[in-house]
Amino acid sequence: MRISTLSIGDELICGQTTDTNAGSIAAALLTEGLRVQRHLTVGDNEPDIMNALDELGRISDMLIVTGGLGPTADDLTSRAAARATGRRLVINEDARAHVRLISGKLDSLIVCPLSDKQAMLPTKSSLIPNPNGTACGFQLMHNGCFMFFMPGVPSEMTVMLRESVLPFLLERVTRKRVIRCVTLNVFGPSEPEVDELLLGIARPELGLTLGICVTFPWMRVTLRAEADHADAAAELLSTAAHTVRERLNDYVFSSGDCSMDAAVAELFRNRDLTLALAESCSGGLIAKRITDIPGSSVYFLEGVVTYGNAAKKRLLGVPSGLLDTKGAVSSECASAMAKGVRSAAGSDLGLAVTGIAGPEGGADGKPVGTVFISLAAPDGCWTKRFQFHGSRDEVRSLTAWTALDWLRRYLLQRTVS
Ligand code: AMP
Ligand code: MG
Repeated sequence: MRISTLSIGDELICGQTTDTNAGSIAAALLTEGLRVQRHLTVGDNEPDIMNALDELGRISDMLIVTGGLGPTADDLTSRAAARATGRRLVINEDARAHVRLISGKLDSLIVCPLSDKQAMLPTKSSLIPNPNGTACGFQLMHNGCFMFFMPGVPSEMTVMLRESVLPFLLERVTRKRVIRCVTLNVFGPSEPEVDELLLGIARPELGLTLGICVTFPWMRVTLRAEADHADAAAELLSTAAHTVRERLNDYVFSSGDCSMDAAVAELFRNRDLTLALAESCSGGLIAKRITDIPGSSVYFLEGVVTYGNAAKKRLLGVPSGLLDTKGAVSSECASAMAKGVRSAAGSDLGLAVTGIAGPEGGADGKPVGTVFISLAAPDGCWTKRFQFHGSRDEVRSLTAWTALDWLRRYLLQRTVS
């Protein structure tokens, strides 16, 4: 079955509103084993809407359209649909009853009287009920293509898609494929490095595809398996996921929707270890991310932002001599901070970061982006220098990500208690 989607709205092509309908329709169809082949976006312009309906109608068995069904003059979809399919626009009594019913319910919210405009539908079309709004959806068949028209408001569209369009569509699918996917979240290597490591895993001819999507500063590797039966798709997927995990090893920090923060929290929960933080250039970003996760008070004892030298000395016991000779941005200072906060807090782990976030402040041998991260633990203290690139925000974000990744890697090696 060939399926296309069409989003209509000036705000979409102007970049004022992000088109979330296209993605949510595609995702909802994909879970049913159906793929969208083509998507178009056009503004609230009648000839453009007519052309799009004509073009997509020719190449599709099903066309799902959203937007432009509102009561105002700039909503032109019904009229364009009627003209593109050679129909008249007439009052649809079911639609009129619906508009009146919903307007009555919303009564206190309606600021201007609604005309019958929203009840004007192309002839030989049937209503798609909209339980949450006045805009009526409708469907019609034109030259062998089922066309579904729904309002653009995502919350209204989603319900109509789920309750009316999808069931109708699924009843007519003759040969349905099963699509399963898995997402692995990766931090550390660059996109080309990941690409090279995963060479040869995708086998489109067998129904197995692989996509890499970068979301600074981490990336998602998505495997998608398509087969005639659920078992075959699951088998294809699990073999491929196993290979990806083997090749990327501990660069993979989680799967699905699990964030780095949640992955670290999960490891802490099973290990009976406590943590204290001493942050300089990250300004509390790491503490924020640790405490974003509910229940973190079990393992997170405290965090200090020791931005100035005086604070590093007073709160962490970093020696004056060390600061004078090595500087605040140094391997020695980072380890003194990590050990200092661990001892002050009485925690199992002390994590410290110090660096130059920029845009100014770089010096010879320590350019902007130089960051030292140190982890003090019962079995040793490790400190490493990193050279990050980018804006102040990016350097700080990379610092927090790398520090959390360090924690994750340390915790992974510690046996579960
Ligand atoms: P409409 O049905 O065209 O009157 O759209 C009503 C509202 O829904 C618009 O003002 C947008 O805020 C929103 N909207 C319309 N189309 C989309 C879309 N494709 N994705 C997300 N929001 C949309
Ligand atoms: Mg609109």
